[in-house]
Amino acid sequence: MVASSLATRGPRSLLRQIREAMAGDAPAQTKLDMVVRIIAASMVAEVCSIYLRRAGGELELFATQGLSPDAVHITRLKLGEGLVGEIVRLGRPLNLKDAPHHPAFAYRPETGEDPYHSFLGVPLLRGGRAIGVLVVQNRTERNYGEEEVEDLQIIAMVLAEMVGAGDLLDREALKDVEIAPHRPERLKGVRFSDGLAYGTVVLHDHPVAPEKLLSDDAEAEATRLAAAVAALQQQIDKMLEGHHGLVGASYEVLETYRMFAHDRGWNRSLEEAVRSGLTAEAAVERVRSEHRARLGQARDPYLRERLHDLEDLNDRLLRHLYGDGHAPRELPEDAILVARNLGPADLLEYDRTRLKGLLLEEGSTASHAAIVARALDIPCVGRLAGLRDRVSQGDPVVVDAEAGEAFLRPRPDVVEALNSRLEVRAQRRAVFAGLKDTPAFTKDGAKITLLMNAGLAVDLDILGETGAEGIGLFRTEFQFMVAEDMPRLNAQRALYERVLDAANGMPVTFRTLDLGGDKLLPYMELEREENPALGWRAVRMGLDRPALLRQQLRALIWAARGRPLRVMFPLVASVDEFRAARAFVDTEVAWALRRGRPAPSRLDVGAMIEAPSLVWHLDALLPMTDFVSVGTNDLMQYLFAADRGNPRVADRYDPLSPPVLRVLKQIQDACVETGTPVSVCGEMAGRPLEAFALVALGFDRLSMPPAGIGPVKQMVLSCDREAARRGVTALLKGTSGSVRSQIETLARKLYVVA
Ligand code: PEP
Ligand code: MG
Repeated sequence: MVASSLATRGPRSLLRQIREAMAGDAPAQTKLDMVVRIIAASMVAEVCSIYLRRAGGELELFATQGLSPDAVHITRLKLGEGLVGEIVRLGRPLNLKDAPHHPAFAYRPETGEDPYHSFLGVPLLRGGRAIGVLVVQNRTERNYGEEEVEDLQIIAMVLAEMVGAGDLLDREALKDVEIAPHRPERLKGVRFSDGLAYGTVVLHDHPVAPEKLLSDDAEAEATRLAAAVAALQQQIDKMLEGHHGLVGASYEVLETYRMFAHDRGWNRSLEEAVRSGLTAEAAVERVRSEHRARLGQARDPYLRERLHDLEDLNDRLLRHLYGDGHAPRELPEDAILVARNLGPADLLEYDRTRLKGLLLEEGSTASHAAIVARALDIPCVGRLAGLRDRVSQGDPVVVDAEAGEAFLRPRPDVVEALNSRLEVRAQRRAVFAGLKDTPAFTKDGAKITLLMNAGLAVDLDILGETGAEGIGLFRTEFQFMVAEDMPRLNAQRALYERVLDAANGMPVTFRTLDLGGDKLLPYMELEREENPALGWRAVRMGLDRPALLRQQLRALIWAARGRPLRVMFPLVASVDEFRAARAFVDTEVAWALRRGRPAPSRLDVGAMIEAPSLVWHLDALLPMTDFVSVGTNDLMQYLFAADRGNPRVADRYDPLSPPVLRVLKQIQDACVETGTPVSVCGEMAGRPLEAFALVALGFDRLSMPPAGIGPVKQMVLSCDREAARRGVTALLKGTSGSVRSQIETLARKLYVVA
């Protein structure tokens, strides 16, 4: 009978009645009492109750129709206690024929619920967090139908937003109900991009505003939804078509997307939600929260992955609903963006001048968001477990990327301490900015060329600010990593041209695609490898599938338009690989000439020294190259057999150690002997103490992240290179695994700022 009542009317009119009840001027308690009465009547339930979550985590009976009114504000259940507590713990509905016999049933005599057997409870979810529970009960033993469960969930969603948004029920009346977490919290994560920030939370996927939840015209909403779904399906199909992948690339991810996008069940749930009176956006949120609740509990990593895919798909659908041209989101002056994870281009859509920090629940150092955050110099902490459920829009937060932490709703002393650290940073920045135009000479007159690592168009904005003398490493794969689908020849050429224009005659070293390993493309998933760091990546891929490499070289030569061009190949492990890669450059130059396009006025082709094998074949390699660059990030990982992306081993070995210093010296000596220009472009080149050791070993070209240039220049200016050389040479014979403290002592003795 309950089913028939809703099947004929749906929750539409019910939602409208609830909205009216909530919108009046009555006190909060009266409104909630009205709401439970309306729901009970509409669902032909003998009992309808609302439980809300207190700050201490307890669930308190706030309003009821059918249970004893004396129990209101008296009956409380802990998280996981009773059926209500169980629903919050599980984050999903409980539909029971005979509730009193359920093992989780907790008997509360004051409620008088003895006679009621059937029980349907759904969580009041807000941003994936349960703020309470909505329950209906009947005397007869019966299971509620699927549609009833669905309807009650829709009602719960609307109710949760109305209660949570705080404009319909005043917060005073709700006392300490924990609609949003409000205590200070400290979360430990991982540093993705260095820096500090204090600001206001902006949720990337902020909930649909309560006034936009209910539609006035279900037909119109259904049409909007259908159009958006069709556009989404088309977009995914197009992405699949455009997927002329590398070999071994699997369609798996996109196929999964396509499967979901065309999934009848998904589409039906969305349609039903719209038909029941929700707007198309609210319908997406509604179906999303159900998926989250279902899949979020899954232990199976495969299922959890699928949840990611679904989240992304939902976001895409919302974007279609908002329309392509929807205005960029308004940001407060000091916005800290909070998201579970961000897609390739998401971060670039926000106003950089207002975006002060980024906090992510997931992600990895090599994820798109992390790459873009570093390029924009926005502090970012990731892997903050449970973050999204612990903050609300507008909360104050501290991003402490130095320590890899976030402080939610920080106490005043935390903010004070942060402010003084920000002050120190600002002073140091001012000093570095003052050095911008000072050439980097050591005290004994050696010129050290400081270059910048880059990879995105946004990097070019700061090239001038840093005082870098050029780009020593342009990571071309970043363009591929932040794109929705494969950048074509023209897009590549356009970016390279912009880079060369921005460099305005300063040298730029373009590194060909270094994909695979820790750099994967969402639209071109490669076959899973047992050991990706040692697998089919970088130049190996380029040589095996020359179409992509040749296309890139063509784009580079075209972009140079007769200007000088520097190209280098990543992860060369044998001289034969370098010879073969270089031959492609010659082929492409010849092709350009045949087409009447100018060849670069000067062409330098180099290799990265990252694979240890090359160190013992430099006599053969160097004469073939125009320059080399030492990629210490990878070189370290291969020398120490320690995965650079695995925090448990990545920092286990010190680059300031005799074996590393000896290898580096060997490379430097061989380059001097053959007159081959050499640079170091791994992260260590941007850390003053490490850079001090490099300068001491004889390196005079260092390429580093933009933030390193100021501090390293300060070090160079204070350094007597000859004295440093003597000191560091003596340490090459050290007998411990790290000579960091000795190098620190040496730097201090020589008054070097490192
Ligand atoms: C390196 O390996 O040191 C390097 C500079 O390249 P990437 O960090 O892009 O692998
Ligand atoms: Mg590398």
